[in-house]
Amino acid sequence: MTARCDNQISSIGVCNTPLSVTTNGFGKTITVCRRCHWRANQRCWTCGHPRTNHPEFGVYCEPCRKAAVRAAWKSARRDPDKARKHRETYTSKPGYREKKNAALRAWREKNPEKAKAQWQRYIAKKKAQSST
Ligand SMILES: [Zn+2]
Ligand SMILES: [Zn+2]
Repeated sequence: MTARCDNQISSIGVCNTPLSVTTNGFGKTITVCRRCHWRANQRCWTCGHPRTNHPEFGVYCEPCRKAAVRAAWKSARRDPDKARKHRETYTSKPGYREKKNAALRAWREKNPEKAKAQWQRYIAKKKAQSST
C-alpha cells in the first residue's frame, strides 16, 4: 500500500498524493509529497510550473486554475442541487443578472473575434443537436 499525503490544502481539501520515497543525501530515506513540495516553493500544485498569480495563497498556475474552474463548473452542473442553487442566485439577487450581462457585453466588445468564434461554435453545436 502506498502512503498518501494528508496535508490540508484550503481549496482542494486533503492533498491525497501518493508519497514518494527519496534519500536526503545522508543515506536516510524520507518520504516527501511532490505536490506539497511544489506548493511550498510557489509552484503549481498540479504541474509544478512556477506560479506568478497569488504566490502566497494560490495553488494552481494560470492554465491549471482555468482547468480546475472548468472541472468545478462541470461537476456543479452535474449536481442538481448546486445547479438549483446557482439558478436561485441568478433569479433572486437584484442586479445580479444585469451585472453579469453588462460584463458579458463589455467582454464581447473587447474581444469581437473571440465572441464571433464562440457564437459560431454555439451555432455548430445547435445544428449538430437538431440533426440528431
Ligand atoms: Zn501533499
Ligand atoms: Zn499548473
